[in-house]
Amino acid sequence: ESFKRINEVDHKIEAFLTLDEEKAMNYANTLDEALGKKDEFGLLFGMPIGIKDNIVTKGLRTTCASKILENFDPIYDATVVQKLKDAETVTIGKLNMDEFAMGSSNENSSFKKTKNPWNTNHVPGGSSGGSAAAVAAGEVLFSLGSDTGGSVRQPASFCGVVGLKPTYGRISRYGLVAFASSLDIIGPITRNVEDNAYLLQAIAGVDPMDSTSANVDVPDYLSALTGDVKGLRIAVPKEYLAEGVKEDVRQSVLDALKVLEGLGATWEEVSLPHSKYALATYYLLSSSEASANLARFDGVRYGHRTNNAESLLEMYKQTRSEGFGDEVKRRIMLGTFALSSGYYDAYYKKAQKVRTLIKKDFEDVFENFDVIIGPTAPTHAFRLGENTKDPMTMYANDILTIPMNLAGVPAISVPCGFSKGLPLGLQIIGKHFDESTLFRVAHTFE
Ligand code: GLN
Repeated sequence: ESFKRINEVDHKIEAFLTLDEEKAMNYANTLDEALGKKDEFGLLFGMPIGIKDNIVTKGLRTTCASKILENFDPIYDATVVQKLKDAETVTIGKLNMDEFAMGSSNENSSFKKTKNPWNTNHVPGGSSGGSAAAVAAGEVLFSLGSDTGGSVRQPASFCGVVGLKPTYGRISRYGLVAFASSLDIIGPITRNVEDNAYLLQAIAGVDPMDSTSANVDVPDYLSALTGDVKGLRIAVPKEYLAEGVKEDVRQSVLDALKVLEGLGATWEEVSLPHSKYALATYYLLSSSEASANLARFDGVRYGHRTNNAESLLEMYKQTRSEGFGDEVKRRIMLGTFALSSGYYDAYYKKAQKVRTLIKKDFEDVFENFDVIIGPTAPTHAFRLGENTKDPMTMYANDILTIPMNLAGVPAISVPCGFSKGLPLGLQIIGKHFDESTLFRVAHTFE
């Protein structure tokens, strides 16, 4: 069914970079056979899933939407991919993204521009745009994305699906191609909250292959879907409904708060005073980490190697010039500059200090509240090409999703209305490792 749907719509949506029809069909057949023989089936048995193309899949091309990895076939599975195999899901293929997860619209992919299924003149968001669009268009039931500064939540919001950025460390990053290691986390994208809880259940937990994965018990997420929000204390940061957030986005959040109030929750306005520094802090830290992480793509170990070099140094330079796109180069340069001796204290070290203040803002609010609520993005999905000329306007679109990565807290985006025929997302933010409360609150909107 998935392949049928992909054949029907993917030439318009362009969500997939690589399809694996033969393997997927063979595997589905073995599952069919097992169906008659087994007594018990996992909850995700046989479900079609798509994987963002920065999560490695053994023997299935993994490009990060970059020319430098155009023909890269990994020799191992990411931990999440292994866990999905254990759960007997069927991987359908790999999904488009902004190159190395740098971007908010999918327009930074080196291969194709995914379109928003609600209106193909608009972007699906990014960087996990392929993952959100594929679920929204019914090509797969579930997908995995990754979220470093909003890349699961913002495309989920733009495409009208549910996207979760779990707590940093909740899911193993082993096999996720690193962008900014202290911010990166894999996240499930689904059509509804219940599916999201199932998917998180399957992939969460500590992993000996990732020392930053957290040794914290994984609760039963499904039992959180009670619909009961009586007595829930909600904080609404005034910075998240301020200037720059479109009026209809603001209104959709206020409407959602009314619904929650009607169910017995209460809300109050609060302040996260260091929010205004989040964007600058994020772009400094994430670019610094990226400049170090992407040093491994040198033409020796993986992927593309130039044909036009006489010396080793020239080979490195030429390979990277040919392989990386403009946005990736921009960030490597920015990060290398911020980390260079003489500037380190002024930029990188200062940004680390501000990160601590941003994290503290959240801790202060969570002393008195259960969740924080705001919009996921300041606008609905913008038009293709609308923000490509000026990287600063593109970066500003992440203003409401970045603080959670800096603080490491979990956040979910659920559909909460439409503006001009395009979906809007409500963002619910929780305490570290309290994804259950996010599911509980989000579930009331279905
Ligand atoms: N849009 C943000 C960026 O370009 C976030 C990306 C992400 O979360 N991977 O860095």
